[in-house]
This record gives sequence, C-alpha cells and structure tokens, in this order.
Amino acid sequence: MSLAGKNIFVTGGLGFIGSHTVLVLLEHGATVHLIDNMSNSFERVFEHMKKLAGDKADKMKFTKCDINDKETLTKIFEKETFDCVIHFAGYKAVGESVDKPLEYYHNNFVGTVILLEVMRQFKCKNMVFSSSCTVYGLPEEVPITESAPLKAISPYGRTKLFQEDMFRDLAVSDKEWRILLLRYFNPIGAHPSGDLGEHPVGIPNNLMPYIQQVALGQREFLRVFGNDYPTPDGTAVRDYIHVMDLAEGHVSAVVKTLATPDLGCTPINLGTGTGSSVLEMIKAFEGASGKKVEYRLVDRRAGDSVAVWAATETAEKQLGWKSKYNVDDMCKHQWAWASKYPQGYETPL
Ligand code: UDP
Repeated sequence: MSLAGKNIFVTGGLGFIGSHTVLVLLEHGATVHLIDNMSNSFERVFEHMKKLAGDKADKMKFTKCDINDKETLTKIFEKETFDCVIHFAGYKAVGESVDKPLEYYHNNFVGTVILLEVMRQFKCKNMVFSSSCTVYGLPEEVPITESAPLKAISPYGRTKLFQEDMFRDLAVSDKEWRILLLRYFNPIGAHPSGDLGEHPVGIPNNLMPYIQQVALGQREFLRVFGNDYPTPDGTAVRDYIHVMDLAEGHVSAVVKTLATPDLGCTPINLGTGTGSSVLEMIKAFEGASGKKVEYRLVDRRAGDSVAVWAATETAEKQLGWKSKYNVDDMCKHQWAWASKYPQGYETPL
C-alpha cells in the first residue's frame, strides 16, 4: 500500500494518535503537513517524531495552528494542495465536557465547521475523521456493528455525534465529498521503540495511563470501577487496540478514500474484535512491566458500559485492515515508553 506522491493535512498531529499516524503515513511514502494548537500536547513531540522519522523527517512540516483559526488555515491551503485531510484535533475528556460544554462544542464542532469551509473553498473534499465508539452510547449488543443505534451520553459524545451528522449531511449535499468516519475503540500502547507515547495532562481519566502511573510508583493504587458487572470476573470489558494498529488503519482509510469516488460518508469501526476486563489489563501490565499494580475495588463509574467490543468485518472488507497486536504487546510497548520517559514529554533528557 503506497501513498507515494500524496500530500496529507493532519489536524491534532502532535496528539497521541495523531503523532503515531503521521509517522506511519511517512513510512508509506506520504508527505504530511500537521497542525496542532498545543492545548493538550508538547512541542517536544515533534522532536521525537523527527528522530523516529529519520531520513523521512523532511517530509513532514509542523505549523502551530488552531482549527478555529480560519486565516492561518486559509494561508496553508493557499500554499499547498492536499489530497486528503485526517482530522484528529479535538477535546476528548468525557468528565471535563460535562463541566465545559461550550468549550467542547466550540472547539470540536465549530472548529470542524471552519476546517470544512476552508477545505471546500480549496476543493479538497477528502476527509478521514477521528470518531469514537462513544457514538454508540451504552450499546445493547456486542460485537458492535456500524449499523448499531447511535446515541451520545455526554457532551463530548454529542460533539462527536454532531460532527458525524454534519459529515453525513455534507456528503448528501455534495457528492464530491468522500468522508470516512473511523470509530475507534480504546487506543493504548506506544511506539514499539518507546520513544513516542501518550502523555495525559493532569490526573488520567483513562485506565491504561492510570495503571502506568501506579506501576511507576507515581500513584498509590488504581480504583477499579465496579466488580459486579455481568462479566466473567465482574469488571467491565473493553476493546483495547494498539495505537500502531490504529495508525495503520488510517493509512488504509486514506488509500480507500482516494480510491473511492462514490464513498459518500461511511463509518468504520477500528477495534480488535476482542474484549478484555479491567482485571485482565492489570495482569497484562504487571506481566509486561514486572511491577505490581495495586488496586482497590470501588463502585461503578457513572455512565460506564458493561462490555464494549467492535465488529471488525467492515474494516477488514472495506479497508483490508486488521489489527496485529495483542494486549501483551500493547502493555509491553507502553511500558517501554513509560520506563524510558516516566514524566512523558516532560522527562529531562
Ligand atoms: N477504569 C477503572 N479505573 C480507572 C479508569 C478506568 O476501573 O481509573 C475502567 C472503566 O470503568 C472502564 C475501563 O476501565 O471499564 C476503561 O475505561 P477508560 O476510561 O479507559 O475508557 P472508556 O470508559 O471510555 O471505555
């Protein structure tokens, strides 16, 4: 699969998924212009990316820019022609979105309107969008197929769902738009080198960054939210997917978008098709790190689903893509990153 000669515009390119995806795009021959507003990332990410990109580092360009900044976006699109946009930029903390709905709607929704207006102005109508399985709400059946009912249960989830709705409306209004909605399950892990990974700012909301900090001795114990779920060990089940698999999924998605004139707006799940419980993830991380992960069982967290995993047939059929890494690989690579950079991108060099 080659993206040789293709120029890709990436928003949120210094984020966890964005940074790994940019590297994989370069490996497949693309050139990349990435932007990020640095609200939840570090300039140092780009230094790490350059190191990993090696002799392909000159094929990527970074501009500090917010998707709400129409003037700067316009200048970038005036200078360069892009074959496709991958849109990662957005706020993503469910709890925070409850406290700051306007910020979430402004950044995620309004920002996307502005990006789309600029794309339309410059006749770049190919888009791969970073969506989430959050659009399925509390799913009633697993595995979750793309035709499962859509329902958001948080302001964050609604921003994703509204963006999806807008993309669907846009594709109906103008057949030239080609939009792939990638609905991610639970991305974890790190670059296998350990030189690129996730750096959550503040107290992590998600399970694996929290487990990592307990293993590093930075937090005393993990709270396991609920052990009375109807699952084999009583803890909730999720479909954890390696960030490198996800990155490869984006390359396949761009190839598919460029090759399919009548794509319209199509949703595709990116997951492994396998679920793991919270206790299984603790065990896997202990195995990979050789560290004890202390935990306490506490009440369920409001708004959590019992079990979530993806139906992967659409991705296999439409993209020819399948995840390769298992949960042990994800933990191994995440530990490589954590042990090398215990303070993430703030670790002194
Ligand atoms: N979880 C937990 N303790 C934590 C964070 C998460 O037990 O400190 C559980 C959570 O209840 C869920 C799973 O881990 O069952 C994955 O949670 P995460 O927030 O990472 O992802 P999401 O809930 O969005 O799937």
